[in-house]
Amino acid sequence: MEKAVCPKCSGLLESITYRGIEVNRCMQCDGIWFDALAADTLKTVRGSESLDRGNPYIGRKYDRITDGVKCPRCHVNLRRMLDIDRHSIWYERCAQCGGIWFDAGEFSQFKQNFRENHLLNRARAAWHRQSK
Ligand SMILES: [Zn+2]
Ligand SMILES: [Zn+2]
Repeated sequence: MEKAVCPKCSGLLESITYRGIEVNRCMQCDGIWFDALAADTLKTVRGSESLDRGNPYIGRKYDRITDGVKCPRCHVNLRRMLDIDRHSIWYERCAQCGGIWFDAGEFSQFKQNFRENHLLNRARAAWHRQSK
């Protein structure tokens, strides 16, 4: 992505590759842009939360910005989405390219939600087997 700009603070996005998957992190607020499916792939990759190095306190501040938040690729308005689990995370998704924006600290929480779901499903499966 050439000189893409952060949808929240207008800082420049730098491209970072983790285990062959490219993401774009804002050099100013540390929010992260994931292309379609990159977040879903990376949440299963061990250690990927290290990409989310930003200060969650600053992330929460930017999380409250909801107006004029545009896709750094397609420049259309992003839709606000909610992931509810242990953490309730409001993130932004582009309906056109499927990319996702996480403010600082949100990707780590997104990953924790996924991990706990995984454990819960395993526990449910075990319970199901026992109850038969
Ligand atoms: Zn930013
Ligand atoms: Zn887009």
